[in-house]
Parts: sequence; C-alpha cells; structure tokens
Amino acid sequence: MPAFEDSDFISPPLSPKSGAEQQQRIPSISARDTSLPVGSHGGNLPIPADGHGRNAIEVPATRSSISDAEAYMHQLSLSPSMKDRRGSRNSFGASLPIPRSKRQSRLSSVHYPDGHPVRPGMPPIQPTREILAAQVQDLSHEKVRAAKDMAFVFDIDGVLVHGDRLIPEGKRVLEILNGDNELGIKIPHIFLTNGSGKPELARVQQLSKILHSPISTDQFIQSHTPMRALAEYYKTVLVVGGEGYRCREVAEEYGFEDIIVPNDIVAWDPTIAPYRVFTEEERATSRPRDFTKCNIEAILVFSDSRDYATDMQIIMDLLRSENGRLGTMAKDPVSQRIPIYFSQGDLLCPTEHPFPRMSQGAFRIGLEAMYKALTGVDLERVVYGKPELATYKYADEVIASWMEEIHNDERLPKNIYMIGDNPASDIIGGNMYGWNTCLVRTGVFQGGDNDENNPANFGVFKNVLEAVQAACKKELGDNFRFEFDETINPTQVKGGVSAIE
Ligand SMILES: [Mg+2]
Repeated sequence: MPAFEDSDFISPPLSPKSGAEQQQRIPSISARDTSLPVGSHGGNLPIPADGHGRNAIEVPATRSSISDAEAYMHQLSLSPSMKDRRGSRNSFGASLPIPRSKRQSRLSSVHYPDGHPVRPGMPPIQPTREILAAQVQDLSHEKVRAAKDMAFVFDIDGVLVHGDRLIPEGKRVLEILNGDNELGIKIPHIFLTNGSGKPELARVQQLSKILHSPISTDQFIQSHTPMRALAEYYKTVLVVGGEGYRCREVAEEYGFEDIIVPNDIVAWDPTIAPYRVFTEEERATSRPRDFTKCNIEAILVFSDSRDYATDMQIIMDLLRSENGRLGTMAKDPVSQRIPIYFSQGDLLCPTEHPFPRMSQGAFRIGLEAMYKALTGVDLERVVYGKPELATYKYADEVIASWMEEIHNDERLPKNIYMIGDNPASDIIGGNMYGWNTCLVRTGVFQGGDNDENNPANFGVFKNVLEAVQAACKKELGDNFRFEFDETINPTQVKGGVSAIE
C-alpha cells in the first residue's frame, strides 16, 4: 500500500527549536497504539484513553499539533511548498482517530438524481445489456483485471462542480466510470472533499442532482466524516460552524450524545458575546441550560464560523476554563485545557467573490494567535481534512469497501488517481500518500506547466475528463473506448488480450 516514506519524517529541521522533534518517526498505525504518549503534555494533545476507541483507529498526526500562529503572524504564506510541509510533519504524539469500519452506524444510501436507478448516459434499463456487458467482460480478462485495479479519488469543487454549477466534463466522467465504457464495467471512484457543514446524505443528494449520476454516501468523504470516530471519546462537545443547526444534525448523526452549539450558550447568557444580536427565532430554537454545571469535553470546529466574534469568544472562554466548565478560569492553561479539533485547514476558499474568502484555516490561525497572546503558550490542536494522513488512510478504507460494493472484492486497487484543482491540499496530500496526482485547470490552479511547489506527478490537464481519459489509457490501453457499444456481438470480441496493446 502506498504510504509516507520514512524520509518524509527525517527532513532537516526548519528551526532550531524543532530540531529534536523533527527526528521523530511516525509510529506504526494500530488501534490504541500504546507507544503513543496519550494523556501527557508538552507537545501531546491528550485523548481520553479509558474505555473508548473500540471502533476507532488512532492515526498519528502528520501535521504538527503546535500552533502555526507564530509563523503566520508576520507573513501569510498561502501555499507552503512541499519541502516546507514535509519538514514540518511531526507526530508530536498527537493522533487523529478515524472510524475502524466506515460502515459503522452509517446508513448506506445511494441517491439517484430523479429518485430511481438509472444508468447514467444510457437508455432505460434493458436486462439484456447487463448480460451483454458480462459477456464482453468474460472475454477481456486482462482489461477487466486492470479496470478493477485502478481507482479515482475526486476532489469536488473546482473539479466536478463550481458550487451548485456543473462542470460539464464532470458529468461525462461519471457516466464513463459508471459503465459507459467498452467493457460496460464500473471503474471504482470515491469523492474526497474538504467541504463541510451538512450531513453526508444531504451533500450526496445535492451532488447527485447536479452531476446527473447516482452517488452513494459509501463513496463520499467530507472534511468531518472521519471525525465520527471522536464520538467514542467525548460525550459532551461544543460543535462550531455551519449554517443554522446543520452541524448539530451532523454531530447527532455521528453519534455524539450531548451536543452544544454556541447559540445554546448565548441563549443561556447573552453577556458572553457582547456584540451578538440574538434574534427571537434563535432564542426559540436554542437549547440553553446552566453551563456552569457541565464540563464540555472537547471543541469540534466542523465548518466555517458564521460569526467569528461570538464563536471565537466562546472557544477562547472554554480553552481557558478549568476542564471545559464555563464560568471558571484555569490556573494552568495547559493541563486543564480541553482539546480542540478542526475539520480542515484550508486558509482560503474560492467563492463567487473575485478574491478567495477566508476559510477554517484563517479562523484557526486567528484563534491560535489570540490564545498565545492571552496565555503566553502555544495552542495545541488537531486538524483533519486533506492533506492530513488520517484523511487519506480513511479514504483507503472507503475505496476498499466500495470495491466490495461494486465488484464484491474488498481490497485496495493498486493504481489510485487523485484528481484535484488545489496543489496545496489535493496534490500535496496525494503525492505524499503515493497516489498518482492529476491537477486540473478548472479551479484554484491557474499556473503554467505544473505547480512549482507541489507538482502533480501524473500531469496537469485542461479538465477532469482529459485527466480520467489519460489515466484510463495508461492502465487499460491507448485504444480503450469511452462508450459501451449496445450493438456489440460478444463472439467478435478478441479474448485473452493484454490490457495494454
Ligand atoms: Mg477543489
């Protein structure tokens, strides 16, 4: 399986301070790995160790758990080079739990664009067509084997869609991968986005409608999807970000028992957020209680904050409290501090606005700087999402499981292609994980031949269709045809041919 190389973690130190830490090796990944110094401090973000984690795997953090604020205070680098990123990848003992099985407590659901199964790009179901495809596949063993030994991982925004707008080549790509190809075979593919803020099913329904293709929640990962594993560790959590109460819904679906959102706290004590104008409707829909009587065990930032002032104030109050109890102030800001998790680290996000807007990464860096200014110590935190290792490990699980669903063969295909528009997340993460990476020109990347800092190793393509066709030709042969011939006579198909002729 492709993985990080040891050399990734023994790069020369970037700063004298982190020299010793740079030499750390990432421990091997196993559930409840006792070699991880869980619960200690001075660089280790504590995770409760007792009685939890039966259904979770803890993946060592590859991004430093120490605040980035210092580096960002005076210079704002938007695209750290791969070299810098590699040099800064240390475990520091922190780990990111991901679900042991991606199927646990998840309602598997395929959503079809118009509510019933269709074969994208093809006429209504004809039973003979399935038989025909099976006959064609029977006669092309090598190609079939190669088609099952490749998989695509798609970033969504800037690759398949722009917000709610379809990128036309994205629709065609899904038709091809869902069976409109010379073998009539499904070529495995999943979706991996740093998007957030809605339950998976709602996101899949929306995407399926835009792309006119069936998409299953079992082939879909958004930034907070792996964070469902944290429900095994924490009972009472503050969930931050997103529209209205959608992230509360997400957390409920993930199995968190006691979910608090900032509105619940403002409704209990409006003076906590002096600049907040709280509407009657918000008051009516919030769930206030006496928060001096409960300990919030962790802060989970699931999506972009809709009110930086209120959210930052409440998060800062909690980080500085005694074990997450509002109304208290910790004597020791480190040992009594509750952990904070972010679902992704993107600094900026492209929108309809001419210049990209600030995203969760910018919110996080603001918090880190405030925390350092107020306490004098660095904030330790965990960041999920691309390009973090845990997210890619989880993607492997999802691909293998999806293989079982479509080909009854639960394993990881050998040749995985990541297709993305953002060199600083899609491409750097795919490169470090040993995947083939394809950069497309339909989104963030606007550069020349390839990105200078994080070049895509399989190349740069005008759009997703060109990238998918190039990858299929490499694995299945230059003459591979991107449509299924309904009139084909299987007896005419050449048998036992090599995949690449
Ligand atoms: Mg993108």
